Amino acid sequence: MSGTAGTAGAVTNWARTITYTARAFHRPGTLDALAALVAGSARVRVLGSGHSFNRIADPGPDGVLLSTAGLPPVTEVDTAARTVRVSGGVRYAELARAVHAHGLALPNMASLPHISVAGSVATGTHGSGVDNGPLASAVREVELVVADGSAVTIGRGDARFDGAVTSLGALGVVTALTLDLEPAYEVEQHVFTELPLDGLDFTAVSAAGYSVSLFTDWREPGFRHVWVKRRTDQPAVRFPWAAPAGVPVHPVPGMPATHCTEQLGVPGPWHERLPHFRAEFTPSSGAEIQSEYLLPRSAAVDALYAIDGIRPAVAGVLQTCEVRTVAADPQWLSPAHGQDSVALHFTWVPDEAAVLPVVRRLEEALAPFDPRPHWGKVYEIPSAVVRGRYTRLADFRALARSLDPAGKFANTFVRDLLDG
Ligand SMILES: Cc1cc2nc3c(=O)[nH]c(=O)nc-3n(C[C@H](O)[C@H](O)[C@H](O)COP(=O)(O)OP(=O)(O)OC[C@H]3O[C@@H](n4cnc5c(N)ncnc54)[C@H](O)[C@@H]3O)c2cc1C
Repeated sequence: MSGTAGTAGAVTNWARTITYTARAFHRPGTLDALAALVAGSARVRVLGSGHSFNRIADPGPDGVLLSTAGLPPVTEVDTAARTVRVSGGVRYAELARAVHAHGLALPNMASLPHISVAGSVATGTHGSGVDNGPLASAVREVELVVADGSAVTIGRGDARFDGAVTSLGALGVVTALTLDLEPAYEVEQHVFTELPLDGLDFTAVSAAGYSVSLFTDWREPGFRHVWVKRRTDQPAVRFPWAAPAGVPVHPVPGMPATHCTEQLGVPGPWHERLPHFRAEFTPSSGAEIQSEYLLPRSAAVDALYAIDGIRPAVAGVLQTCEVRTVAADPQWLSPAHGQDSVALHFTWVPDEAAVLPVVRRLEEALAPFDPRPHWGKVYEIPSAVVRGRYTRLADFRALARSLDPAGKFANTFVRDLLDG
């Protein structure tokens, strides 16, 4: 994210593919200042670390964009309860270090640790693992500043909770979250090369470790790499389908593996192995557009063959494609809501004019599987179609109206989705 307080003209997302159109950009330094800004503004959106690729965070030209990055960072670990209370703008890298220092761990992480906690859970961000839900599934309580500037806390057990975490920023400013922790654990990262698509036993491959990612550039019908992250307190990796990589690799062909977390089976702390990218390096290639679709895991192989059917078109604008699994999630707006899912991710070249037609062809190919797009990435599926894929959308709409009757936190992205 770039830009300073004042006008929002120069504020962009991390990839610099989106320039926000707000009339003002504020970075309050205290919760009181934040509450006053919210209460005194007609239209507000919050910006986390700016790692989304679409206009989900954009308030529009008449709105105010609020960054939480200036608020005092809070990471309060309760070792007895095994929880951490963290302010919304804190990034996972910082959170993980604080938690690990207390001998505790998060259950999972995304591919990079540079993303803010509130922004990540708001969009259903996930890592991988057949039994691992999205990052939001670790959240037990959310603290919000709502439209009138007052504070509201919603915890597990509250009937509103399943709408309150993966909330697209539509309920208010998330000032803090409390997350469940577990004892710290170690992870080894094993990479295997050249796994064919023909004969793929997706159920077995995706269960080969605690967190498994398959990478392909779709230039060939198969996977260049499979990354298997094994917790050292779980059984050894048995991977008879492909050969181990002899050297460390990067998910994007040609990029240096020095940016990646340690591989070759060297055990290390959970937070230095679960993300693919090291906290101290610029993640991924930096110049990119991303899309991702979640669909029922039972359809994984059919969906992969559907992509294989348009392989030349996809490969022409692709940097890398990652296939992961996400366990079913109760959050109403989670792309993994109610179904164990496979997540099909695409890192495209940074050329929107070339990429969007391919995104539309890909969505046509995946349409039989009712894909739910990642909220923070680029998609072209009409809102009316997306809406039909969320059985609890009406409950979310009612929750948003109860906390924000005038729609102060509803931008074009949210209005299109909720109201059409
Ligand atoms: C290189 C790269 C790798 C990625 N890897 C993964 C991955 O492994 N898995 C995955 O699922 N996704 C991944 N993503 C996507 C990313 O996790 C999401 O876009 C996520 O939303 C980013 O968090 P953020 O803080 O940057 O959110 P932003 O883009 O800043 O905001 C996203 C949404 O959250 C809202 N929001 C942010 N903070 C608050 C707050 N405090 N209160 C209320 N609303 C708030 C915003 O209004 C907006 O609606 C990746 C993105 C990049 C650039």
